[in-house]
Amino acid sequence: MSASPSISTRLLDGQRTALARLISWAENGDARFPSALLEIKQRLGRAARTGITGPPGAGKSTLTNELARHLRTTEKTVGILAVDPSSPITGGALLGDRIRMEDRTTDPGCFIRSMASRGSHGGIARATVDALDVMDAFGFDELIVETVGVGQAEYDVVGAADTVVVVLCPGAGDGVQAMKSGLLEVADVLVVNKSDMPGADRLAKDLAESVHIRTAPAMGKSAVPAWVPPVVSCSAAKDEGIDDVLAAIAQHRAFLIDDLAGHRAIKRANQVRHVVTEHLDEAIWGTAGWTDWVADEVRGGSTAYEAAAAVLAHLVPALPMAGAHGAKEPSV
Ligand code: GDP
Repeated sequence: MSASPSISTRLLDGQRTALARLISWAENGDARFPSALLEIKQRLGRAARTGITGPPGAGKSTLTNELARHLRTTEKTVGILAVDPSSPITGGALLGDRIRMEDRTTDPGCFIRSMASRGSHGGIARATVDALDVMDAFGFDELIVETVGVGQAEYDVVGAADTVVVVLCPGAGDGVQAMKSGLLEVADVLVVNKSDMPGADRLAKDLAESVHIRTAPAMGKSAVPAWVPPVVSCSAAKDEGIDDVLAAIAQHRAFLIDDLAGHRAIKRANQVRHVVTEHLDEAIWGTAGWTDWVADEVRGGSTAYEAAAAVLAHLVPALPMAGAHGAKEPSV
């Protein structure tokens, strides 16, 4: 009697139940995930990865749906990951949101999955990369990771993609806010959605101008031309300009192609950092001893810095902060 095939084998065989299960392992930080990843490693790296971020209401879900629909007309298979780093489990609201994507869910060439935060620091960014890896190994041609809003946590999530698309729309101060919040810095492609609304042309013009100002000095210094994020207008709701958005994403991908491996290595290094941080966090604070010890110290009058220095001195004596403030060694 032969043993039943492993979950990785079943994933590589194209079984959707294995796909869903492995993404859950990724999401939960399941201890079985690392060895499963090892078994699918040879199939990684083929899918194009696009991240979509921007303020709530800009039209990210609508646009993601349209991008997927247009990609499907070219026979490309699409995996969509909708990530909410700010909400704790479980994706009730997010899944509700997905109902609008119902037309995609019955299509066998399209897969949609939501993930929300399990609360651990950096955990959702780590889980996103793991889930994208699983979808990549499964064999989707195009992966889209979409976040619900905009902020550091969202950028950590979409930053793992090859191409980051920032979606904005006309409305009170959106363009100015984007410039202030550093959104332009993270964008590889800027999309002005709701081009059917008043103010869209103005916003596109303003964005193009500030992108130009931002990238001009860099181009002066270097012989290698920097990527200048294009500003693309579309109306996701009216299905206008979607192919222009896809073309801009493809152009960025073509720009990367000479050094896609290098570009991805930087992102992969970030993932290593997430994994290390997550494991350390769990190792230190997941064990009751440290938490109790620190609570006692603080109750006894230690400042947070004194207690932290004592913990660090014990865990990583080589760190500069460790041993500072003359804190005493904890005995855990
Ligand atoms: P998200 O929060 O960024 O995902 O935005 P949604 O995709 O949920 O869209 C927010 C609202 O904007 C919804 O009511 C959409 O129907 C609407 N919307 C999306 N795209 C367009 C568009 O191109 N034009 C107009 N007028 N409304 C749009």
